[in-house]
Amino acid sequence: WTARQRKPDWMKRSKLPGGDKYTEIKAKLRELKLSTVCEEARCPNLGECWGGGDGHTATATIMLMGDTCTRGCRFCAVKTSKAPPPLDPNEPENVSKAIAAWGLDYVVLTSVDRDDLPDGGSSHIAATIRLLKEKTRGSLLVEALVPDFQGNMDCVKTIVDSGLDVYAHNIETVERLQGVVRDRRAGWSQSLRTLQRAKELGAQVTKSSIMLGCGESQQEVVDTLKALRSHGVDVVTLGQYMRPTKKHMAVSEFVTPEAFQAYEQLAKELGFLYVASGPMVRSSYRAGEFYISNVLK
Ligand code: SF4
Ligand code: SF4
Repeated sequence: WTARQRKPDWMKRSKLPGGDKYTEIKAKLRELKLSTVCEEARCPNLGECWGGGDGHTATATIMLMGDTCTRGCRFCAVKTSKAPPPLDPNEPENVSKAIAAWGLDYVVLTSVDRDDLPDGGSSHIAATIRLLKEKTRGSLLVEALVPDFQGNMDCVKTIVDSGLDVYAHNIETVERLQGVVRDRRAGWSQSLRTLQRAKELGAQVTKSSIMLGCGESQQEVVDTLKALRSHGVDVVTLGQYMRPTKKHMAVSEFVTPEAFQAYEQLAKELGFLYVASGPMVRSSYRAGEFYISNVLK
């Protein structure tokens, strides 16, 4: 298994999106000047998440606060700088207007980390969520995938109080590999504490994700699932780490679909509200559908 870099067959499945519905959505996005992580990252799940007119709930992911992060995680392709450009004060209004006009069912707002800002950008994210809820009269479901805010619980509260539906923060990997995979300012207990605090402060649903194939053992994955549950996390997703470029951390292993299924089963037994687990799963994978069938049922 170790050091296997060639993609196995199960990672080659990539149903290219197409069809009238997809073309229509793309045209509308250009008109609204809205860019999505789904398109920019060429996510293989785009066809499934955006609906395709077959009764799915449309989910898309939008990145806030620019394209430059103050951190440099070893798995991530986002640009890094100690001093990224200032935030665009019009972004909450413009983005919420465009998303509301798009007519999505469920949006995931994600962002770079902005350790250079006193509130880590939490009020900017919260303002976007409030405006989205206002403009859609609460009909749009909003998940915010937020930073750890360096453990600043006032920032966590700002996000929880914005009226979002799902508070998400990714633990990314097992405890032993935190320092190898994530930026040194991130960490196991800091991430778990913010997730726990979000729940205590009244977040309806909390969510986290684990990337597999970074050198973790099966027992470590099990321990991570247990730690998330014991910190009140409601939803978990597990997916395969894919190296964005040769400069990034190598893939240690391609985890088999059967192993993903076994983790899914275990996570359900541990009491997670819903679980998405599979080689192609990303933290926002069909998030709207899963939310609607498990929380609003
Ligand atoms: Fe977009 Fe996330 Fe779905 Fe990929 S998994 S298409 S990034 S919503
Ligand atoms: Fe990428 Fe997030 Fe790490 Fe920044 S904090 S480098 S956006 S994973």
